Amino acid sequence: MDEQTLCVSILQNINDGVYFVDKERNITFWNKSAERITGFTASEVIHTSCYQNLLNHVNEEGEEICKNGCPLHKTMQDGITREGLVYLHHKNGYRIPVQMKSIAIMENLEIVGAMEIFHDYTEQNTLLHQLEELKSLALRDQLTNLPNRRYIESFLELKKNDFMSFGIPFGIAFIDLDRFKSINDQYGHNIGDEVLQVAAKTFSRMVRNSDLIGRWGGEEFLGVFCGVDMDSLRKICTKLKTMIEKSSISRDIDLKITISIGATLFRLEDTIEQAIQRADQFLYKSKEAGRNRVTTDDNK
Ligand code: GH3
Ligand code: MG
Ligand code: MG
Repeated sequence: MDEQTLCVSILQNINDGVYFVDKERNITFWNKSAERITGFTASEVIHTSCYQNLLNHVNEEGEEICKNGCPLHKTMQDGITREGLVYLHHKNGYRIPVQMKSIAIMENLEIVGAMEIFHDYTEQNTLLHQLEELKSLALRDQLTNLPNRRYIESFLELKKNDFMSFGIPFGIAFIDLDRFKSINDQYGHNIGDEVLQVAAKTFSRMVRNSDLIGRWGGEEFLGVFCGVDMDSLRKICTKLKTMIEKSSISRDIDLKITISIGATLFRLEDTIEQAIQRADQFLYKSKEAGRNRVTTDDNK
């Protein structure tokens, strides 16, 4: 296989659309992806001129750039590669956003034409969208839709960095539903799940944008509150405790939902694990003292 046949074979099989124009802007090559993206076959476009042709590129403002400001034309004049987002005309009439690049074709140091490489920007967008969705699926708890443990852990790392670099304080609250096992035992697992969802909804409406409450696991939640002192941390936790006490599931079941909380401020000498452990010890104190209460560093 000679070099030219090899190049043509590669160009035919790449995922990007590729076409060549000569100095007169007549299309001389049109690959398979260009057919797929635009709907026009090679035989329909080859030997037609790109400035009067079917593709009819427009920019974001809807201006026709084939007649004025054609990147291929400019590239053929100065040899400079250009890139941009243009909207081309699909054979079926609709517009497709494509990311394009125009490159000069040289022969013996002389510009003899230009090549446009383009890919469907919608495909990329959809992929990006799917990636975002996957990312959010991976970071959310399925039952409650709250941030999951993985997300909480990375959030805590960020907050620790803010604390170390800028001295921004933050508090951690370990939250546990009271006597949850007996709710499951008495009403069944589905009602148990509903209670978790109700608690999660109340939590998510009680946090500021800069803060976070996520599901740590089982019937345990972790709150992270930024820029707080001991007094405001205690107030936030007390409010959470009160709002959960005032929450109820929609059915006609007289079910009492309460939580116990242990909360602590992150300290300079702490690792994240140590701070969580301390909050957990305070939580244990709240349980010991009778549940439905908040215990903090100063044990109030
Ligand atoms: P305490 O007041 O001391 O916290 O008592 P508790 O009953 O809440 O504590 P325990 O840790 O003994 O029970 C937790 C229960 O939570 C046991 C487990 O079956 C239940 N649980 C954990 N995850 C889920 C879940 O996703 N759905 C339901 N319905 N129950 C769950
Ligand atoms: Mg528990
Ligand atoms: Mg519990």
